[in-house]
Amino acid sequence: MNRQIMPTQDPKKRINNFNEVNLGYSKEEAILEAKRCLDCKKPKCVEGCPVNINIPLFIKNIIEDNINKAYEVITNNNLFPSICGRVCPQELQCEKQCIRGIKGESVAIGNLERYVGDNAEYELYKEPSNNIKVAIVGSGPAGLSCASTLRQKGYDVTVFEALHKVGGVLRYGIPEFRLPKKIVDNETEKLKKLGVRFISNVVIGKTITIDQLFMQGFKAIYIGTGAGLPRFLNVPGENLNGVFSANEYLTRINLMEAYKEESTTPIVEAKTVCVVGGGNVAMDAARCARRMNADVYVIYRRSKNEMPARLEEIKHAEEEGIKFIFLANPIEIIGNEKVEKIKCIKMELKEADSSGRKTPVPIPNSEFAIDTDAVILALGNYPNPLLKNTDNLNFNKWGCIEVDENLATSIPGVFAGGDVVTGAATVIKAMEAGQIAAKSIINYLNQE
Ligand SMILES: Cc1cc2nc3c(=O)[nH]c(=O)nc-3n(C[C@H](O)[C@H](O)[C@H](O)COP(=O)(O)OP(=O)(O)OC[C@H]3O[C@@H](n4cnc5c(N)ncnc54)[C@H](O)[C@@H]3O)c2cc1C
Repeated sequence: MNRQIMPTQDPKKRINNFNEVNLGYSKEEAILEAKRCLDCKKPKCVEGCPVNINIPLFIKNIIEDNINKAYEVITNNNLFPSICGRVCPQELQCEKQCIRGIKGESVAIGNLERYVGDNAEYELYKEPSNNIKVAIVGSGPAGLSCASTLRQKGYDVTVFEALHKVGGVLRYGIPEFRLPKKIVDNETEKLKKLGVRFISNVVIGKTITIDQLFMQGFKAIYIGTGAGLPRFLNVPGENLNGVFSANEYLTRINLMEAYKEESTTPIVEAKTVCVVGGGNVAMDAARCARRMNADVYVIYRRSKNEMPARLEEIKHAEEEGIKFIFLANPIEIIGNEKVEKIKCIKMELKEADSSGRKTPVPIPNSEFAIDTDAVILALGNYPNPLLKNTDNLNFNKWGCIEVDENLATSIPGVFAGGDVVTGAATVIKAMEAGQIAAKSIINYLNQE
């Protein structure tokens, strides 16, 4: 039996709206897909999942149409199946290890996880309050998962968020057509129901310091402030009008909803947009620009095989008419106040670097230029240096907070995890860090 295909919005229609592209399985499709699971004695898929969800057991419950039980199984390890089912790189994790994948197509574990998350009705358990206060800094997946784990164990949890809305990249980075904001709202509502308090518009390190949080009675602090500081190309012309970091462009679109007519946030009007980069962020920016009626080129210095973006994102971008220019790197952005052209040089791939990917090297005298009205740079991010300036934490040379194996920082009682520790990574890795930190915080507080 073949893998059930995820129904999607028609590419011709979807480039004119921001509605979700993947439409989700029906009950019949989910049960048919679930029946493809071989229920292996030693399930490799569980090893492939960073939070070790009991995948065969939740799938078995889908077959028995016991979706609330399936939800309980998933949420023993991951409280956000609707989010992870949509954005996790399953093809590199659980699905990569699926035995069915050796000779054919792996079971669509991510699609099934999403089905459960979207359709179950289930109250999360929580232990009675112990009145011990813990502060979480940052409301991205790292902060949310730490907050929920601690609240379920009875701790009095307050999440401080710099922006006016909670969710981190789930809110301001990943577009509506991949992760509808009502899903992020539902998940945060779930946490509020558990009793987690959210305080937004508070920048820790500026509005309040870590020391002041301790003085306010918080007994432990978890920092999950992510990696929101964009990298730039450092080429001439980068300061011209019409050049954006992907962070700024996506924040305008997603958080400030600049794509809606009633939004007061401006967004560039461009007939042609060039996006530089080959990861998920580049795909998200390109697909947003396409929905803003632009002809979009993605310029990537390696080839398609080396692109770090999820395969599904690349496929969807291609279906939406986005054009790819591989093996090219920008060397100058040309214009008179405003961007007019992007000048690139062709690249060839030489020996692999330490990451195992082949190194791109410029081909002499191969420069070419593309006419464009806007350039969006999606070249990766560093952690925001704010906490570095104000608090006594140790940082490594990439600006990430240094932690031990329990995610404890150099300040007693302060823990950290997610992108602020690892550099830009994935949602599930950030969630895993939140759970590990929650356990470490409980051990630390028990010893205290
Ligand atoms: C556009 C984009 C698309 C992506 N797509 C995917 C994908 O498809 N799949 C996937 O697995 N991963 C994806 N990622 C990566 C993933 O989103 C991140 O790895 C993950 O969100 C990291 O979680 P986090 O909680 O560590 O940080 P974040 O999600 O960055 O959250 C950090 C939060 O802390 C807040 N904050 C920062 N400083 C302070 C402060 N001083 N005080 C208070 N609050 C503060 C920020 O405002 C933010 O809300 C994507 C990333 C981007 C940018």
